[in-house]
Amino acid sequence: MTPADPKLLANIRIVLARTSHPGNIGAAARAMKTMGLSRLYLVQPHVFPNSQADAMAASAGDVLAQAQVCTTLAEALEGTSLALGVSARRRDIVAEVLTPAESAARLLTEAQAEPVALVFGNETNGLSNDQLGQCQGLVTIAANPEYSSLNLAAAVQVLSYEVRQAWLQHPSWPEPELDAASLEDIERFYAHLETTLAELEFLNPGSPSKLMLKLRRLFARTRLEKEEVNILRGILTSAQEAKRLAGPRNRMAE
Ligand code: SAH
Repeated sequence: MTPADPKLLANIRIVLARTSHPGNIGAAARAMKTMGLSRLYLVQPHVFPNSQADAMAASAGDVLAQAQVCTTLAEALEGTSLALGVSARRRDIVAEVLTPAESAARLLTEAQAEPVALVFGNETNGLSNDQLGQCQGLVTIAANPEYSSLNLAAAVQVLSYEVRQAWLQHPSWPEPELDAASLEDIERFYAHLETTLAELEFLNPGSPSKLMLKLRRLFARTRLEKEEVNILRGILTSAQEAKRLAGPRNRMAE
């Protein structure tokens, strides 16, 4: 059996969004290192760096030292082609719900080509709808339905463990099937779509977010390829040009 490729683990990011307790950041770093993961991204941590984080990290201080602190989730996801949100709550924001083992297989397959990410939420509020809208799938740890909320670092441990087991058991992975668009390109497409729909007066400019979340859910289900994003953006540009030539809608004439 060929040994599993360490580069795959290096392509898997653990993203912690708006973590409140620095001790959890340290414990998450330890959970990662015990399973061979090292790429920690912190989106607006409340307190970091911090002595409690260092203490809880124990011998995983190197993971903390290399952690990337980001101001937005989009920044933490730069360069990735797949982001899976880890959440106990089944919300209607993300269509696909995966088990930790399924998510590990998906992440390792994609990690052969591009970096990928697991995104964890804040201790009190979990992941926001907006944060989940930036993910293509949802990972739920099937826990006791009467009390299903694990400690943040414990959830990182469960997912990191599953990634390691999958990695050990499958030293080679099938090639990723598609030439997936990067998440930055997909975010640029969503911005273009929102502007165009506003120009076409299809979106209610007062509350565009509900429809945009539904459209994000739709496109996340299809896993867009690079070429498809280019085609969709070309269609949007044509629609914008046609609208500009036609001028504002004359409601009296309708
Ligand atoms: N009260 C929050 C729970 C936060 S726990 C809520 O209801 O969403 C902190 C983080 O740990 C969560 O955002 C999620 O990323 C992870 N987590 C905890 N329990 C989980 C579970 N059963 N399934 C998936 N993720 C879980």
